[in-house]
Amino acid sequence: MDDINVLKLDSSYKPIELITWQDAFILTWLKKAYVVEYTQHWVHSATQKFQIPAVIALIRFVDEKIFTVPCTTKNVMLRDGHLCQYCGKSSKEAQLNIDHVVPRSKGGLTSWENVVTACTSCNQTKKDLFLHETTLKLAKIPKKPSYRALIRKKIGNVNDSWIRYL
Ligand SMILES: [Zn+2]
Repeated sequence: MDDINVLKLDSSYKPIELITWQDAFILTWLKKAYVVEYTQHWVHSATQKFQIPAVIALIRFVDEKIFTVPCTTKNVMLRDGHLCQYCGKSSKEAQLNIDHVVPRSKGGLTSWENVVTACTSCNQTKKDLFLHETTLKLAKIPKKPSYRALIRKKIGNVNDSWIRYL
């Protein structure tokens, strides 16, 4: 029960993030949010019982532009669907690496436009070479994902009642 997550929307029903059901309770109790849909789960206190929400909506509108989408290993792999961007193979997260298209040793930055998910084997082929010095080809040009695209991938299809909000 502790691992029940609640999808938090803003006032325009735009997905913001996943929160714990305890945080969802607090937000609704403070009247900062209201319940859009419930789960089938209940919690019992000494005197009352409460139904755990599946989806809540904030009273306020959240401007998507304020979200930063940090270029972290986790987020890059999420953007790339955990697929090696050179050979297309999927691997367990542990076996995937982040490759700098323009090598760091040659001034390449850790930015959305310069890092991709790569399997160990492609990563070893790439070494610190420029792409044109190898036989590798990028599946697509890396770019910064929108917050919405990333949260959609993060949430995936874990919960049927969330899909229509993503
Ligand atoms: Zn590969």
